Amino acid sequence: MRIVEIRESALPLSANIQNSVVNFSEHTVSLVAVMSDVMRNGRPVVGVAFDSIGRYAQSGLMRERFIRRLMAAKPDELLDETGKAFDTDKAFRVMMRNEKPGGHGDRAHAVAALELALWDLNAKLNDEPAWKTIARHFGVKPSERMPVYAAGGYYYPEDNLGRLQDEMRRYRDMGYEKFKMKIGGAPLREDIGRIEAALKLVGQAEDLAVDANGRFDVKAALDYGEAMTGFGLRWYEEPGDPLDYHLMSELAAVYPHRLATGENLFSCHDVDNLALFGGMRRGKDLFQMDPALSYGLGEFHRMIRSLEAKGFSRSDVHPHGGHMIAVHIVVGLGLGGSEAYPGVFAPVGGYAEECVVGGGGVTPGASPGFGLEAKADLAPHIKALLA
Ligand code: MG
Repeated sequence: MRIVEIRESALPLSANIQNSVVNFSEHTVSLVAVMSDVMRNGRPVVGVAFDSIGRYAQSGLMRERFIRRLMAAKPDELLDETGKAFDTDKAFRVMMRNEKPGGHGDRAHAVAALELALWDLNAKLNDEPAWKTIARHFGVKPSERMPVYAAGGYYYPEDNLGRLQDEMRRYRDMGYEKFKMKIGGAPLREDIGRIEAALKLVGQAEDLAVDANGRFDVKAALDYGEAMTGFGLRWYEEPGDPLDYHLMSELAAVYPHRLATGENLFSCHDVDNLALFGGMRRGKDLFQMDPALSYGLGEFHRMIRSLEAKGFSRSDVHPHGGHMIAVHIVVGLGLGGSEAYPGVFAPVGGYAEECVVGGGGVTPGASPGFGLEAKADLAPHIKALLA
């Protein structure tokens, strides 16, 4: 078995929305296809995946370095001992040849998309959904569905509070029971008003989380923490820069409720530093690393094992995502849950029609691999990439 060809295409994301730091309308994503020489029903078996949502396609890095290295590798440098599946750890090492440690940056999600495509390919070779392949590979008892919440709560130029409430109402009508909204894009007092407006719809503070998207310095993070303490919100996410472990530890020392961060970390060493120096509280605070941002599933699993060795639980890991790949990873690794971004980040964001949202969770569906071909708005892009 060998890789015949690897293709990549940069897709625009449909998301004219704004958090406290970025507008998503310029963002793109790399859709990748790893084509094997195995034929099923007259067609090659192809692994498909994409890199992290909310950043950019990595076409250049992939073509110049990572696709070239995979294509130059001999088959036994990429296959497991049976020769019937790709060894994703070996593929990771092939892609990382001649790469210095550290300085992860954009290469981490370029590599991630390709590594995840090999997971999709392995699952399709077994003709099973990816969560099954993942659970078996890592020896994990999978969960039956992924606990999910609707993430959004954006800023609107007009009728800010009314439209925020409309947005939350829409999510509730879609079957979501827990929610997340943006903070940090307005003055503190205005944001408190937005939280109060959202709570009128959501009902209970324990069903509403807030996300500052890394906007605050220490003082602003503490001021918001103090102002929000009385609400008892579900969690307070990414208050400061992803690498500002000092800020996290200062905040964790005084903020009594749950904190969450980690979605913009790129490596296991980053996560170790967060766990060691960020004041993260065992059994309370959440880790949100994104496998599609941080070298793929192998590195993500190393992060989880490292957290568990330090006394944290995998049920406190809620990867950043809002897409099919995240659902299969959360279910396959038995993690705590993840998010949905209803109505935005198409065509890669959101779930296939076969996935059922309700009762606080989403099911992964029965299609082989990550099931990306079963997602109606993504399927034409995959077809075009393979044409
Ligand atoms: Mg976030």
